[in-house]
Amino acid sequence: MHLKRSLAERHIPRGEHICCIALSLFVSPLVAQTIEYTRADVAENVYAFIPSEIGVGNAVAIIGDTDVLVVDSTATPSGARAVIAEIRKLTPKPVRYLVNTHWHDDHIWGNQAFRAAFPNVVIIAHENTRQDMIDKAIPSLAQSISGIRKKLEARDEQLKNGKSDDGRPLSEERRTFLNKRQVLFKHLLNEIESVTPTLPTITFQRRLVLYQGSQQINLLSLGKGHTRGDIVIHIPASKVVIAGDLITYPIPAGAFVFERIETMRKLARIDQEVIVPGHGPVMRNNDYVLLITSLLEKVVSRVRQALDQELSLEETQKGIDVEGFRARLGSQDLVPTRAFERFFLRPAVEQAYKELKER
Ligand SMILES: [Zn+2]
Repeated sequence: MHLKRSLAERHIPRGEHICCIALSLFVSPLVAQTIEYTRADVAENVYAFIPSEIGVGNAVAIIGDTDVLVVDSTATPSGARAVIAEIRKLTPKPVRYLVNTHWHDDHIWGNQAFRAAFPNVVIIAHENTRQDMIDKAIPSLAQSISGIRKKLEARDEQLKNGKSDDGRPLSEERRTFLNKRQVLFKHLLNEIESVTPTLPTITFQRRLVLYQGSQQINLLSLGKGHTRGDIVIHIPASKVVIAGDLITYPIPAGAFVFERIETMRKLARIDQEVIVPGHGPVMRNNDYVLLITSLLEKVVSRVRQALDQELSLEETQKGIDVEGFRARLGSQDLVPTRAFERFFLRPAVEQAYKELKER
């Protein structure tokens, strides 16, 4: 998922970027001028850095006996530098490993800052993630830049004319909101223009085990989910799982539906007491994982029924009803029905329809 809709909209290959767009809707109108990171103490020697923009991915640091492992590098070089500054407040030990949980730009474009600060850092990802960075993320940078520029120009025009897209006069509240978004988007433009793509140097397919002294850290590929290359990081000793965007709060998102259910079941079975999602606050139980798994199961069962009745995709979309789940995801303010439908339900139904039809 991404910080900004224009960044996300540019390259949406069938749902892969949906969470980025979705979560950008929930940004407060009083958005900070730039992105700030709040530290959350996850477990002993494990810290999450939660950005003020929910469209930006979380980063996590695991401090070992002699070095540090970081999970995800945020969306921007300056975001990564902010996280590095926080880590340095905690320890003088160097970052030896940086893990990218998947290829989306809100998790990888800080890689270069880690390489600059720690020249010997080893960057690790699933082999599909490295390939998707080459095939999708890097080619999309130019589109991101032109998308943000267009957005900035359109908003400048609105502010100059005092009129919104539909020709109505801008309210004072709307004007304030647009001005703050302009500041943020100019910051993002500078950041994206300064990106030097920095690829993983070690890849794996199923499982990689690292040891920080006596502490074991498992990097696991559980199957297709948010992307085709998601990995989760499990620290057995502290029962912590860092889930990447297999878990995004408050709206789930991803490229896969049917196949993702098995992946989510595997995630739920890992021996853990704390989950750090790709976006949103640290979770101290499995409730949200189980809720999202049930929601995906419901979508699949409804789509399967529709296929049995030989309904078209359009008819299936019209007939689907999982509103009870939306209500359980959070308050109406947090997860508006329209956003839930637009960013989760419609693409999920379309994807499930496709996946089931191909089986
Ligand atoms: Zn994300």
